[in-house]
Amino acid sequence: MLFQPDIERLPLPQLRALQNARLKEQVAYLAARVPFYQRKFAEAGINPATFRGLEDLTKLGFTKKADFRDNYPLGLFAVPENEVARLHCSSGTTGKATVVGYTAGDLAIFSEVVARSLVAAGCRPGMKVQNAYGYGLFTGGLGLHYGAERLGLTVIPVSGGSTDRQLQLLQDFRPEILCATPSYAQVLAEELHRRGIAPEAINLKLAVLGAEPWSEALRTQVQDGLHVAATNIYGLSEILGPGISQEDVDERGTGSYIWEDHFYPEIVDKDTGEPVPEGQPGVLIFTTLTKKALPILRYWTGDITHLTYDHSVKRTHVKMGPIRGRADDMLIIRGVNFFPTQVEDIISQLPHASPHYQVVVTRQGSLDEVAVHVEVAEPLLRALGLAATPLTATHVQQHDALRALQGTFAKKIKDNIGLSMRVFLLGSGQLPRSEGGKLSRVLDRRAER
Ligand code: ADP
Repeated sequence: MLFQPDIERLPLPQLRALQNARLKEQVAYLAARVPFYQRKFAEAGINPATFRGLEDLTKLGFTKKADFRDNYPLGLFAVPENEVARLHCSSGTTGKATVVGYTAGDLAIFSEVVARSLVAAGCRPGMKVQNAYGYGLFTGGLGLHYGAERLGLTVIPVSGGSTDRQLQLLQDFRPEILCATPSYAQVLAEELHRRGIAPEAINLKLAVLGAEPWSEALRTQVQDGLHVAATNIYGLSEILGPGISQEDVDERGTGSYIWEDHFYPEIVDKDTGEPVPEGQPGVLIFTTLTKKALPILRYWTGDITHLTYDHSVKRTHVKMGPIRGRADDMLIIRGVNFFPTQVEDIISQLPHASPHYQVVVTRQGSLDEVAVHVEVAEPLLRALGLAATPLTATHVQQHDALRALQGTFAKKIKDNIGLSMRVFLLGSGQLPRSEGGKLSRVLDRRAER
């Protein structure tokens, strides 16, 4: 089942024609209403009256998060305040939150693309969904909520956190679907296990996870721990919120469909801003095609991924790969660039390591140092009689299996990333867990003395 088969399977030439027409409309609309874009058009020598659509788009510079901050709070809005039906803020992961707004029509589209995403994730009308995304200014909670209602699901609006209550509701209301950040789904899977509740005792079948980068290793952990098929949902407030792209449950691991009738994607080089060849990684850029309250042209998401046009089986829309991190998250240590999520990929190859890790960056004199802290997998801890103890360096020295894990991990990091990192092994629960929202796996202590 597809939610909107006609649009999701629209043949490519027609999809491009639709995008072109909508983009021209969006440009004319902005030219008449938003001083920020009027200036941008003038600077780029673009005459909105003769703008040709997609082929002229790259003439225009990017819109960046700083532009939102400079026009705080509502300076980029294209409608009077009394036409704004709802305001949200981005979660402020990388600085001051940005304010975004929606007309009633924008909210209808928001619900439509979320409903479309949920169907791709395997959800069907009549199912129940436990929505553990945070409700409030964050777009995740309400975004998923109204999309789920639009599809005809029964929504349990529990919001993020309150793990006891989450587990109780999973058992009492028996929802088939969980929506959460992947790091919080990981917490729920772990708690279920810790409390001896068999995954069969709950009724979950699907998990729709997003709002932060996650790896295949984490997918496996959540799928096994909760007995679900877990798919990726992606989005950002500046463009809309969740539901900009979504993985199909039958095509897991091949990328997430971008709903191209509403959001036009590009991938550009993070340094030059020039388009990169198909399949190559770069910064994801989005242009809204149908927004009314806050249309945005060429938004620099900072997220690094690639696009693929060739794996589309069920739909014609393009797929994006997983987000390895934001350009801002990329660490450059002694000349080597890497994303913390690369460490997660290596952990997945180590049977005795758990997927709980933290990358800690410090400065020793003028040199940056990276250490990886990782929790040892529980079965090994139990076998060594260390299940309930915080691990120390002495424990590691005393046990061959721990020393071997430490050595193999450090070697794999050196071989794969090209950088030496100290590895610290920890016991269960020693690293921070998601409290219901996004979890940062990097601790940058370079500014500390
Ligand atoms: P903020 O930018 O302050 O975190 P948002 O809540 O709008 O606020 O978050 C959007 C960002 O979250 C995206 O730009 C991206 O970095 C991250 N994100 C959202 N969904 C995913 C996902 N499925 N995979 C990886 N990262 C994601």
